[in-house]
Amino acid sequence: MAEAKPDNQPNTGSPQPQYLQALTGQPALVTGASSGIGKATALGLAKAGADVVVNYIGNPAPAEDIAHAIEALGRRALAIEADVSKEDDVERMFAQAIQHFGTLHIAVSNAGLQADAPFDEMTLEQWNKVIGVNLTGQFLTARAAVREFKRRGPKPDISVATGKLLCTSSVHQEIPWAGHVNYATSKGGINMMMRSIAQEVAPLRIRANAIAPGAIRTPINRAAWDTPEAYNKLMELVPYLRIGEPDDIARAAAWLVSDAADYITGATLYIDGGMTLYPGFATGG
Ligand code: NAP
Repeated sequence: MAEAKPDNQPNTGSPQPQYLQALTGQPALVTGASSGIGKATALGLAKAGADVVVNYIGNPAPAEDIAHAIEALGRRALAIEADVSKEDDVERMFAQAIQHFGTLHIAVSNAGLQADAPFDEMTLEQWNKVIGVNLTGQFLTARAAVREFKRRGPKPDISVATGKLLCTSSVHQEIPWAGHVNYATSKGGINMMMRSIAQEVAPLRIRANAIAPGAIRTPINRAAWDTPEAYNKLMELVPYLRIGEPDDIARAAAWLVSDAADYITGATLYIDGGMTLYPGFATGG
């Protein structure tokens, strides 16, 4: 029998990736796929059989590297530059993707950022930037995807669902976050947007769900994990006593957009090592 880990020892083990070939023939688009969770998700969907559009903003080199890694898995890949907060960019990206792959079956709206400030010092620019990318960007991506799913119609030989949307939220759709009011508001908005879309498009057999990560090891939150002191402090918030890895999200995403999860719509899957279990109450509060 495995020996129990003593309390307060970070659990550094993480599982080996396992992907079923469940997405063959289902082209997918992942926004913000040049880094972190989006990068892992693009690769994860490819491991599960999908051809993948790798969206990026700015520097093409990381996105091209990921596209080559997807091609090395035997899948097709296309890197497309687009700012998800801009309507024209998103429309152009979908047009290019559909022209290249014929259609899309899966859209993962993942691009996101932070612009933190104490509330009374937060500028309108910081507010608009975060809402523009994190919330409006997910609206524009979801709308373009639903239009394509409706245009194409059902293809039950490919997937029993006509299309799958996956939004990327955060534990901060639930946990208030001082100093990050714009970010937490954007994630709370994603929750209601995703559920309302899910309700509206369910009769078309289009599924909409969200993933809500906890603390995942990516550049967005480097300061929270890149020193032992910061990591140990972070573990006070994570009952499972390890940081999440991008592939923890990617494996769940690949399952949630597959037919194995076909009866799931309007749901948020928290992937957070227990961060939303109110760990401050673990000893009775
Ligand atoms: P990340 O490594 O910083 O990746 C964010 C990605 O979004 C980058 O590829 C970035 O491109 C891209 N991006 C930013 N603005 C964009 C725009 N206007 N148009 C298109 N792409 C844009 O962060 P991450 O941790 O992987 O975050 C991915 C998602 O997970 C975000 O929605 C975030 O809120 C969410 N999330 C993360 C965590 C976590 O602990 N890491 C927890 C909860 C939720 P550049 O690198 O070129 O700027």
